[in-house]
Amino acid sequence: MAQATPALEIRNLHKRYGDLEVLKGISLTANDGDVISILGSSGSGKSTFLRCINLLENPHEGQILVAGEELKLKQSRTGELVAADNKQINRMRSEIGFVFQNFNLWPHMTVLDNIIEAPRRVLGQSKAEATEIAEALLAKVGIADKRHVYPTQLSGGQQQRAAIARTLAMQPKVILFDEPTSALDPEMVQEVLNVIRALAEEGRTMLLVTHEMNFARNVSSEVVFLHQGLVEEQGPPAQVFDNPQSARCKQFMSSNR
Ligand code: ADP
Ligand code: MG
Repeated sequence: MAQATPALEIRNLHKRYGDLEVLKGISLTANDGDVISILGSSGSGKSTFLRCINLLENPHEGQILVAGEELKLKQSRTGELVAADNKQINRMRSEIGFVFQNFNLWPHMTVLDNIIEAPRRVLGQSKAEATEIAEALLAKVGIADKRHVYPTQLSGGQQQRAAIARTLAMQPKVILFDEPTSALDPEMVQEVLNVIRALAEEGRTMLLVTHEMNFARNVSSEVVFLHQGLVEEQGPPAQVFDNPQSARCKQFMSSNR
């Protein structure tokens, strides 16, 4: 049987900062509906990997394909790969949602305006249309009553849920989460994880960097363990969590239970 086109495919991604080689050739394939958790100790390159996927950081080598479409890249004078086609990168950035550890909401805009801004500007939605969609998304993440307040008036958990709604409003094909609960007080972690779990159950395709090991184990279709810029181990959660093969992964699992 022919394989369906992956939602996201990364081939041989390399990135360095000066002499520090952070990513040494990472490949990863996410099929539709996959939830891939990316684990690894601090400094192993997890954020850099996610940030290279939508060119928040520029890799030095590699290919990025979204739903089979390869992102056009060209070498810059400094040796990094940069977008070769502005129209394409803008469209592809909207197809790859990104949820940050620190929410990154615009502080001078209400929650509703945070959500409708990009759909209006990038997707060309009317204000009425964008607002209707935004209100449905705010209801979905459980903060419909907060649409007219500013981010600073929200708890961290509410801010992160607003940020997730903002990402969803762009109708992304893939969502990348970089430690979405790491900046939250413990009592707010669960409300955000519940939203992410609901997205997984809807069949969203997601890459998730997290230290929430139980959550990763329950929600993931696949787990990838990074070590020193390479995929050290990869497989279904039951295998990687319960029966890791590599010494590094074993050590990581036993110190993060
Ligand atoms: P993780 O998210 O797994 O903790 P990062 O991807 O943030 O790891 O960082 C990987 C390595 O790259 C670390 O050694 C970090 O110090 C370094 N690094 C990350 N961003 C930069 C940058 N902008 N400039 C220089 N070094 C960086
Ligand atoms: Mg990080």
